[in-house]
Amino acid sequence: MRRLVCCLLCGAVTLGALGLTACRTELPRDRYDIVAEYLPEERLLRAEMNVEICNRTDTAFFELQFHLWPNAYREGAAVRPVSELYAPAVYYSGTSYGGICVSEVVGGDFRVGGEDENVLIVTPPAPVYPEERIALSMRFEVILPLADHRLGVGERAVTLADFYPVLCPFPEGASDRVYAPVGDPFTADCADYTVSLTLPAQFTAAYTGAGERTEQNGKACYRVTARNVRSVAFVFSEHFSVAHAVADGIPVDYYYWEGESPARVLDAAVQSLSYFSQTFGPYPYGRYTLVRTDLPYGGMEYPMLTMLGDGTAGHTPFVVAHETAHQWWGASVGSDPYTQAWQDEGLAEFSAALFMETHPAYGEGYRQIVSRAEGAYRAFFSVQSQISQANTAMSRPLTAYTGDYEYRRIAYDKALILFDRLRETMGDKKLFAALRDYAACHAGRLASSADLIACLVKKSRSAEGIAVSFLDGRCVI
Ligand SMILES: [Zn+2]
Repeated sequence: MRRLVCCLLCGAVTLGALGLTACRTELPRDRYDIVAEYLPEERLLRAEMNVEICNRTDTAFFELQFHLWPNAYREGAAVRPVSELYAPAVYYSGTSYGGICVSEVVGGDFRVGGEDENVLIVTPPAPVYPEERIALSMRFEVILPLADHRLGVGERAVTLADFYPVLCPFPEGASDRVYAPVGDPFTADCADYTVSLTLPAQFTAAYTGAGERTEQNGKACYRVTARNVRSVAFVFSEHFSVAHAVADGIPVDYYYWEGESPARVLDAAVQSLSYFSQTFGPYPYGRYTLVRTDLPYGGMEYPMLTMLGDGTAGHTPFVVAHETAHQWWGASVGSDPYTQAWQDEGLAEFSAALFMETHPAYGEGYRQIVSRAEGAYRAFFSVQSQISQANTAMSRPLTAYTGDYEYRRIAYDKALILFDRLRETMGDKKLFAALRDYAACHAGRLASSADLIACLVKKSRSAEGIAVSFLDGRCVI
């Protein structure tokens, strides 16, 4: 029999500190305009970027800090972007390196800093005061590793994600936010993008946003626009076929390996997009794209774009639903996946479990999924308790996880169990209403865990004690 002992009203989070919010108006957004060309012989992306940053805070910017995610792939990086578990699968032809070199910034002095050469620090000639804007121009080159990963020349596809300098929305902690080998450390404020990407014409590209392809002299040029997104990513390959569908008026495209059957993935994508729209509020973008990649993981979410991994893991309706749910949790409503990974991963797991419950034809029920998570979590807890005191805290930096196994148990399984316990206590009507409020009020913004708890508490005061006991590791599952 399941047992939950939680410390109600344990005081670590008080209602007054929860930051209860009403739905707010749209924030002014940054702009990124990128012109890039991919040169396959050199595994090189050569790019120019104009960026316009708006100071939305109430303090002046004396410097701006941009993440340099590709530098995690460089030789000598202190923190590798791939865990030991996945390294043999990712580096399919042996160790390979990449990196980013920013050669010019117009509009401010610049240097590379951070804990692991992971931050581009730009000092403008004068402070940027609240509500002011600053325009910068940059030139940079990215070397892609030979890797089946988020950035790399894979066995069948080239993946370009997190490939350009992007403003860190947490300036006080930019330096520490390294590309950890577990989890997804990326988040950014929503911005408006235009990207022009030139490639050899034999490639077909899937991407974030809406775009058009033109061809000239053996090269293809994709001109892409994406508004109100946290990032833009591309996947291109010589081996894609494309299938199209529509979900509640939203075009859905699936780029799959030629020779595969696209129907099961596309059906799950359309049905989950439709289900989440009805359950949590309208899909926040104008189109949705899924693309097969060489990733050894189940999948990886980007705004308007889901990357599905290679192999059977990326084919399952549950994975498709999980990644689709990230369009609400992570893409539209941003959070801090570096310190609060459970927040969007737990919501994506819970949403996918709800989808499976309402679509029994896929053959896996909600209770089955939650029971599997409970079993995995208890096994983890039992083993950890025998070795040392198990650390079950959910709020911690990605670098504080011992590896993929612990991360999976905490950020996915324990977080799913949390939302299941909230469902038991609050009931569907109140819980779903709270999640709709969360999706609506924090769309286009970064929501803290306190913001999420505040939405839950507005529907049921008992949610606070349950959530807090899970987050600080005191609950017994
Ligand atoms: Zn996820």
